Amino acid sequence: MNSFQFHNPTRLIFGKGQITALKTEVPKYGKKVLMVYGGGSIKRSGLYDQVIVQLKEIGAEVTELAGVEPNPRLSTVHRGVDLCKTKEIELVLAVGGGSVLDCAKAIAAGAKYDGDMWDFAEHKAVPKAALPLGTVLTMAATGSEMNGNSVISNEATEEKLGWGSPLVYPVFSILDPENTFTLPKDQTVYGIVDIMSHVFEHYFHKETNTLLQDEFCEALLRTVIETAPKLIEDLESFDHRETILLCGTMALNGVLNMGLSGDWATHNIEHAVSAVYDIPHGGGLAILFPNWMSHNLPHDVARFKRLAEKVFGIDPIGKSDQQVAEEGIAALRAFWNSIGAPSRLADYDIDGSKLELMADKAMRFGPFGNFAKLQKEDVLAIYRRSL
Ligand code: NAP
Ligand code: FE
Repeated sequence: MNSFQFHNPTRLIFGKGQITALKTEVPKYGKKVLMVYGGGSIKRSGLYDQVIVQLKEIGAEVTELAGVEPNPRLSTVHRGVDLCKTKEIELVLAVGGGSVLDCAKAIAAGAKYDGDMWDFAEHKAVPKAALPLGTVLTMAATGSEMNGNSVISNEATEEKLGWGSPLVYPVFSILDPENTFTLPKDQTVYGIVDIMSHVFEHYFHKETNTLLQDEFCEALLRTVIETAPKLIEDLESFDHRETILLCGTMALNGVLNMGLSGDWATHNIEHAVSAVYDIPHGGGLAILFPNWMSHNLPHDVARFKRLAEKVFGIDPIGKSDQQVAEEGIAALRAFWNSIGAPSRLADYDIDGSKLELMADKAMRFGPFGNFAKLQKEDVLAIYRRSL
């Protein structure tokens, strides 16, 4: 494995009824709060009222930024940054899914920067300071609640870029499984696909002596595979929501990739698709990841074989390594199909007309991927397999 440092500063506050922790956490950072949320799900579920009750009890002055889009937009970040500056905000509080959290991270860093926050996404500048950010998570998917990453869409340039900084790890994140009960089936499935994809991004690596990391990844994948079908049948099961919620956090909070660099090519390829077509991130990953796997299988058949056996229970007896590996990829596709995930770009009415454009967007910073370095031709080949 590689040398590494691990430092995750987020206080994770997990469990039923933990919303009351707002009363002890928020005052540590100030009274002037920017509450950031999405298109209204928290109003319908009643979570909005619960948060406001807690904030009122501690006398917080609340400014609101509502309407953060799934695939959060730069213009919304700008509105939030302006509010922080004019209202002298002391804490940004994100209440929602990954999009709300990612938008709030961009606001928190943008509020302490004189230029345009987009500079961070374009690698033109690095955040030097950020407002503290707290979160109340409403869906299991991104891991944004316990990492320093954010993905923002620039609607003017049709780009979707990830960026990150140690300064935008949430100072606290409140995760109550009950706050995810109202998440509809399709979004629940997208979240499950995203969680599994984060594990795959770690699992496909080139480092050696990584037995513990590999076993952690496989355990997390098996847990999701065992739980997801039960959750899809019973969306208000506390136990299944709880399991998936913890899986989501653990899949991308830095624990799985100690000593590993991870691959991350499929996320990059997916961002280029959702930049152009504004599709859900998890839906895009469900289509692309098995095709990334088939395309890159020749790089390391043994790794794919291990996945097939240890996660999908493929019996290797009497089969070649290649056959076992291929059966594993087919089993992943079948599993995602069985819970209702899409499998072709055509499922989103995406045809072949913009493949070049998407591939150019994916190549924005040159060839990418650590397990397998992808050139534009590879990206196009994966898109074509996905049509
Ligand atoms: P999301 O875009 O935050 O939310 C998707 C939809 O689910 C929204 O319409 C939202 O509605 C709704 N929703 C959320 N919680 C709900 C609940 N409890 N009940 C009912 N509806 C609910 O989804 P996400 O998958 O968490 O985030 C996706 C974004 O994160 C993408 O831009 C992706 O690229 C990015 N991402 C970030 C990271 C990271 O590490 N930071 C990693 C992977 C992906 P409302 O708007 O009404 O709330
Ligand atoms: Fe993701």
